Amino acid sequence: MNEEIFTNEEYWEEIKKKIQREANVSDITYHLWFENLEFREIQGDTVYIASEKEDERALGYLDKKFKLYFETIIGEELGKIINVKFILKNNSVPTFDNQDVKVDNDTLNPEYTFESFVVGNNNKMAHQVSVAVAEDPGKTWNPLYIYGGSGLGKTHLMQSIGHFILKKDPTKKVIYVTSEQFTNDVIESLRSGKSADSMSKLREKYRTVDVLMIDDIQFIIGKEATQEEFFHTFNTLHDAGKQIILSSERNFKEFKNLDERYISRFAWGMTVDITPPDYETRSAILRNDAEKHNIKISEEIIDYIASNIKSNIRELEGALNKIIAFSKLYNNIEPDMDFAKEALKDYISTEESGKINFDRIVDVVCQECGASKEAIMSNKRNADIVYPRHIIMYLSYDMLGITYQQIADNLKRSDHTTVISGCKKIEADIKSNKSGKNTKEKVDRIKSILLGN
Ligand code: ADP
Ligand code: MG
Repeated sequence: MNEEIFTNEEYWEEIKKKIQREANVSDITYHLWFENLEFREIQGDTVYIASEKEDERALGYLDKKFKLYFETIIGEELGKIINVKFILKNNSVPTFDNQDVKVDNDTLNPEYTFESFVVGNNNKMAHQVSVAVAEDPGKTWNPLYIYGGSGLGKTHLMQSIGHFILKKDPTKKVIYVTSEQFTNDVIESLRSGKSADSMSKLREKYRTVDVLMIDDIQFIIGKEATQEEFFHTFNTLHDAGKQIILSSERNFKEFKNLDERYISRFAWGMTVDITPPDYETRSAILRNDAEKHNIKISEEIIDYIASNIKSNIRELEGALNKIIAFSKLYNNIEPDMDFAKEALKDYISTEESGKINFDRIVDVVCQECGASKEAIMSNKRNADIVYPRHIIMYLSYDMLGITYQQIADNLKRSDHTTVISGCKKIEADIKSNKSGKNTKEKVDRIKSILLGN
């Protein structure tokens, strides 16, 4: 058989479809993982297939799940035994199929499905990994740890996985709890005197599930008893090959007091983050919502909201809802710009928002590092002040394009060489993480907050 034929797109399509049937791959997974796979070339007995994904880890997934099928089917076509190697190609986002999901589950919000989740650069990887986990709970990545700032879609994404699993197999036992609920359950069982009965009830609830989702896990850190119960629940489920999905505002590596045994366990699985959405994603979410509510909202208004509310999707939607509510109040008039501005005056301040300057950098760094502005500007030299101070120096140099001396002036320091060395330290730590403080992630997050995207 002529190897050239693989470069024929139709033929290649057919091969992929065949593999889809053979491997029993759902349409959604086909869409996310197969559709963009490109035949590259054959060298000897190795067939190279390029994936549009940007992350090495995606290749691991393809390898683990589908390699054998590709090798079998392509090998059959070629009439010889071949190896398949997946390589990266680097390209854009695959879009998403609309499917109708209806699941009744009182702990899951029926609105939080993959179908209503808008995929953008900010959540692409998190989304893909979530779909993979939903397809094969317990088998792909365990635990799945999703982190990101408030209102960016962690709960939505997490619950989408739950819906998906239940739709596919309604007999699966899926539990979604906030870490508060989990804590309350633990406390409740302790309060009843640690009786065998109450403990076994607790264990029955959490340790016999197929999928356990705990939202905002950061709140159990430091709560000894809860943490301990969680630890054993985690181990039991993990050993049994049951899926664990956790969300949090931070990467677990950033929690100062978190025990090593948690860190190592969380690291067994996959960690993905969601960052603030870019402009396109923000407007797509708004359009989606308007459509869902059957309300006509002009592009001008969408643009107005999307340009002004940047770092929180909950607020973005809140703003739109306010316009919708207002318009209903006034006999469903179609809102114009003045109307929208009036409705949103609490959401969108008229002052220049989002402009980056030295003070903004100090504010955001202090907030993200838990330092006070006063201490930053003081002469204090303890490590937990020096570190955020260095980040401020680095970001000011990087983002404001001002001189070392100007930065020194802003920080009320006479000597600009301390600024230089501060910048160097952060730069080096971004590359090597020698300090173990995950400086790169921290700086990235602060930057994205500052940029509002
Ligand atoms: P988090 O748990 O990260 O604080 P949520 O999942 O509660 O955030 O999301 C806040 C709101 O924004 C929800 O109404 C959710 O449906 C919506 N939302 C977040 N991300 C998206 C997205 N990518 N597409 C559509 N809606 C989203
Ligand atoms: Mg949440």
